Amino acid sequence: MGLDQNQRVVVVTGGSRGIGRAVCLALAGVGTHVYFNYSCSSSQALETEALVVEKGGRATAVGADVTAEDDVRRFFAAVIEESGRLDVLVNNAGITRDALVPRMSARDWDDVLNVNLRGAFFCIKAASRQMLRQRAGRIINISSVVGLTGNAGQANYAAAKAGLIGLTKSVAAEYASRNITVNAIAAGLINTDMTAPLPEAEKKAIIDRIPLGRIGEPEDVAAVAAFLASAEAAYITGQVIHVNGGLYM
Ligand code: NAP
Repeated sequence: MGLDQNQRVVVVTGGSRGIGRAVCLALAGVGTHVYFNYSCSSSQALETEALVVEKGGRATAVGADVTAEDDVRRFFAAVIEESGRLDVLVNNAGITRDALVPRMSARDWDDVLNVNLRGAFFCIKAASRQMLRQRAGRIINISSVVGLTGNAGQANYAAAKAGLIGLTKSVAAEYASRNITVNAIAAGLINTDMTAPLPEAEKKAIIDRIPLGRIGEPEDVAAVAAFLASAEAAYITGQVIHVNGGLYM
């Protein structure tokens, strides 16, 4: 594929489903090449590719595990070799392994920290080499309201999402002089496969506490990611933008 310096190149991690897919679509359009990875859902990744193309953009799905630094390096090297640039990184890939602390295994702890936090670190490291060369870039990390509030049964996930906020602010401070902005979105309860297994009564109890009175949709989060990636957001860095219907103020 030829090198086109006028094209905006974006990478979204975990673009096969849920919020990641919505982010791919919100960033998609003529002149934009959306690269995204996924861990195992190859048929859903193909659907995301087709949806991006329907919006007039280009899409490339790659099976790459964010917890494997070699996979991440190869993924970003291929993007940069093919496109010659990288403008936006959205660290979205995430998992949960919920349990109360006494029942939480070391494996549950490590898996969640590895995908949500270590994976984001690997991707930031790989992406920022090119962004530093360009002296421009946008990094957006998808955190969670529980990274600020904590949540019983999610010590691993809340720690990872709080860690992502510390990572966001640190990298924002490191890269600001190179015109690279780094922000986090702390999402509330969003309607995806991740929250689908929640018992209806539990979901209702959370929704009852949401001032806007409804669960969020992936597009609610994706719209903010698209804004943070836009020229209009050039003066915003090191921030946590809350998208939670007022659940946490
Ligand atoms: P989801 O529907 O379960 O999708 C998760 C995505 O991450 C999938 O594309 C998945 O790929 C990918 N992924 C998981 N592990 C990966 C790995 N090791 N390497 C590469 N990709 C991997 O989840 P979601 O609800 O859209 O969540 C997206 C992000 O938003 C996560 O960071 C989550 O923590 C955050 N968030 C979600 C909510 C919510 O209420 N849903 C709230 C706050 C924050 P496969 O399809 O191949 O498995």
